[in-house]
Amino acid sequence: MMNETLAPSIGEKCGVFGVYGQGFEAARLVYPGLWALQHRGQESSGIAVSDGERIKVHKGVGLVAHVYGEEDLDVLTGQISIGHNRYGTSQKSSGEHHSQPVLRRDKSLALAHNGNLPSVARLEGFLQGNGIPTTTSNDSEMMTDAIRHLLSLGVSLEEAIAESMPLFTGAYSLLLLIADKLAALRDPRGIRPLSIGELNGGYIISSETNALDIVHANPIRDVRPGELVVVDEGGLHSYQLAKGDQRLDIFEFVYFARPDSILLGKSVYGVRWQLGANLFQECPTCADVVLPVPDSAVPAAIGYAHASGIPFEEGLIKNRYIHRTFIRPEQRLRERDVAMKLNPIPSVLAGKRVIVIDDSIVRGTTARNIVRMIREAGAREVHLRIPSPPVLYPDFYGIDTPKQSDLIAARMSLKGICEFVGADSLFYLSYRGLINSTGLPESVFSTSCFTGEYPIGIGERAREVQKIIFKSD
Ligand code: AMP
Repeated sequence: MMNETLAPSIGEKCGVFGVYGQGFEAARLVYPGLWALQHRGQESSGIAVSDGERIKVHKGVGLVAHVYGEEDLDVLTGQISIGHNRYGTSQKSSGEHHSQPVLRRDKSLALAHNGNLPSVARLEGFLQGNGIPTTTSNDSEMMTDAIRHLLSLGVSLEEAIAESMPLFTGAYSLLLLIADKLAALRDPRGIRPLSIGELNGGYIISSETNALDIVHANPIRDVRPGELVVVDEGGLHSYQLAKGDQRLDIFEFVYFARPDSILLGKSVYGVRWQLGANLFQECPTCADVVLPVPDSAVPAAIGYAHASGIPFEEGLIKNRYIHRTFIRPEQRLRERDVAMKLNPIPSVLAGKRVIVIDDSIVRGTTARNIVRMIREAGAREVHLRIPSPPVLYPDFYGIDTPKQSDLIAARMSLKGICEFVGADSLFYLSYRGLINSTGLPESVFSTSCFTGEYPIGIGERAREVQKIIFKSD
């Protein structure tokens, strides 16, 4: 079935940004917001705007820099706007067809989604029961259709969202736009981040706080798990639609979020620094240099260097203009991409005992190529250190870690992985070390990719997951 195969691959690790402000050229603020959220999705980008009566959208495939020209922004006039950067992960989900915000032909409602619904059975049942076709729709489009249907019956936006929310079985940080309102909705576990800022009497809602900084908005608070926030000419209104139980995806701290963002009151940079420091404490190793795999592992490598006293060096230089390494559908292409993206500096590495730090190992492709690269540049020893535990379980909440059989730690022991990547030694941070580094209790996190505990039911997809005992021999 079309939608069963499509739904899980849509809406991954995206970035959303919304603006409401009297007299604002809202799309002109969403645009820099999307630049600041580019790391959350590079496949396509879109902005929808309302001038109080009509909703318009502009979207396209590629980076924010490619999708919008001055003339596109010129026509996106109005004081309410939402934007979206999408991270598609398979050929199935690629292309313009699935770019967001979703805006159906009647142009009554625009929706931007960060997250993923692992099961769409309930939503599909509701739509089909109301004679609405679902065959070519993904999860975000189905959510849009459910709310549109209820709006067409004459209920308010708030009521339509409240009624359809129980159909949304999964992870979602949503932004919605109708002619005269901006709304934000977060699933009851708050799996994906969503923060509110204030700017000159208007409001900004963003996936991450770094994008609030860019438009000089003052951060106010997060949208609470299970909360609907509506902004209209009367100001900001809050409705707690479901009991919230915060379970932020801990992978946001490990890899996704930008280090200049604040999540659950903690600096992402600070947490990553601590991950690196704790990594050294758990497995002290003698070496000459500490090297990050840029960019995501830089804060952890700095923390490791501080804790160990081993000098931090940049020995791998990243070409910042190559994107989407991780999502190449074919393994051969993925391997070539790693070499295009990173180049070693032999004078930093030759004859050295090197500690190399990458934030995580998923399939093992990146680590294997990097270790080889560092050796070819003349390193004497290569010790791979990972400031997070082994990724043993696939993700269903919008981050696209692949099928469990593609996850190297689900197939091999520590020794096997070390041999596969060709390192002299390999060490992962412990699960306890990860939690401790955040300075927050374990109970506020979704840790599914490390523990297999899924705080939101994954429905029929549970069949895809097996319990794994990792052999750390
Ligand atoms: P792999 O080569 O499959 O082991 O991927 C690991 C690399 O991808 C690491 O360098 C991570 O920084 C990065 N990474 C981890 N998770 C993701 C993700 N969900 N999307 C994109 N890149 C990722």
